[in-house]
Amino acid sequence: MTNIFQTPKNFPLTADALREVIKRFPTPFHIYDEKIIRENFRRLREAFSWAPDFREHFAVKATPNPYIVEVLARDGAGTDCSSIAELFISQAADVVGEKIMLTSNDTPAEEFRKALELGAIINLDDITHIAYLEQNARLPEIISFRYNPADIMNDGNDIIGRPAEAKYGLTREQIFAAYKICLDKGIKRFGLHTMIASNERKASTFIYTARIMFELAAKIKSELGIKFEFVNLGGGLGIPYRPDELPVDLKTIGDGVKELFHEILVPVGLGDVRLAMESGRAITGSAGWLVSTVLHKKNTYKQYVGLDSCMSDLMRPALYDAYHHITILGKEDEPCDEVYDVTGSLCENNDKFAIDRRLPHIDVGDIVIIHDTGAHGHAMGFNYNGKLRSAELLIRESGKIEMIRRAETLNDYFATLNFPNARLKLNH
Ligand SMILES: *Cc1c(COP(=O)(O)O)cnc(C)c1O
Repeated sequence: MTNIFQTPKNFPLTADALREVIKRFPTPFHIYDEKIIRENFRRLREAFSWAPDFREHFAVKATPNPYIVEVLARDGAGTDCSSIAELFISQAADVVGEKIMLTSNDTPAEEFRKALELGAIINLDDITHIAYLEQNARLPEIISFRYNPADIMNDGNDIIGRPAEAKYGLTREQIFAAYKICLDKGIKRFGLHTMIASNERKASTFIYTARIMFELAAKIKSELGIKFEFVNLGGGLGIPYRPDELPVDLKTIGDGVKELFHEILVPVGLGDVRLAMESGRAITGSAGWLVSTVLHKKNTYKQYVGLDSCMSDLMRPALYDAYHHITILGKEDEPCDEVYDVTGSLCENNDKFAIDRRLPHIDVGDIVIIHDTGAHGHAMGFNYNGKLRSAELLIRESGKIEMIRRAETLNDYFATLNFPNARLKLNH
């Protein structure tokens, strides 16, 4: 029999402080903690402090809010963008030039043009994109390619899938050909990129990725004479969503990658290659919470607790069957002697934040804290059923709480609808 009391997971405010916040900003909202975001980034930086000029390109898609990008940029982070909107977000936060890496796929021409305008590093997802880029924009001064190592990785991950099944990147044969084409076209500056894992907590996966990439960089150098400026190992660092899971051992990753750096890159004259990563989840995931209020309780064949938020605020449980820990405010020390499905209000039966979750007795009006929503949480939201996405708040290091994105309104929802406003009878 498992422990009837929940293993606690942290939340940065006291119960009283949170109730005060809710008076100012009605639920639901995502709330982020600046201090934890900066600490997460600092730990990543420290693991690679040995590397020449290590750079984290924060994956904007995880938490696409310029306030968050700005917090990280002040500590030296760049951005990893995969869409034109993300390029604009990076620009708004004053992250421009080669601090941006555009790692998109199926890329539209206007996105390449915006990236070139900003001086971003363009990382191509396919060999045919060289010609597409040249025809629809121009070739850049520095170029990079995304490598797909196929099934060299024998433990591909559920979300991105096994590399050979993933739509991303170039094959081994193509990547040599691609750099050759670029050399012939007069490009002189090069980088190399991959992104294999997703929400991976095993250090060995990242060390293995580094081995693949370093060996590839050395091989390309010996065959084509290219001296890479950077190798980007991608994102995919996992976080412990469950209270009993262990965090990623960043120090082991940093030390393991360092050893390979000296074993593989230094001897072939690549000892000054800049290492880069593009983590999203590991930076902001644990620094965000979705705060909701219980609207209804329902007892049919199961016990349901219905919140004022739904899948449009957090899709991960419905999309990936992902676990998000849940705390009931003020009931942290009560025994978990009830079993609930915690649901949203969508007309979709998978709109559930938790299924058969052991929780303390819940009442209508209780405040529900859903943990680890800082990455791929608000960002994935959508408007199915006409549901509106929540606000985003940020707890500054000073303790001040700022609304960094307001909640959507019905006016936002109808803004794209070319139908006379008067007949929609909006009184906003
Ligand atoms: C999603 C993504 C990331 C970030 O992944 P995390 O799991 O949040 O670290 C980085 N790079 C690319 C290309 C991505 O698509």
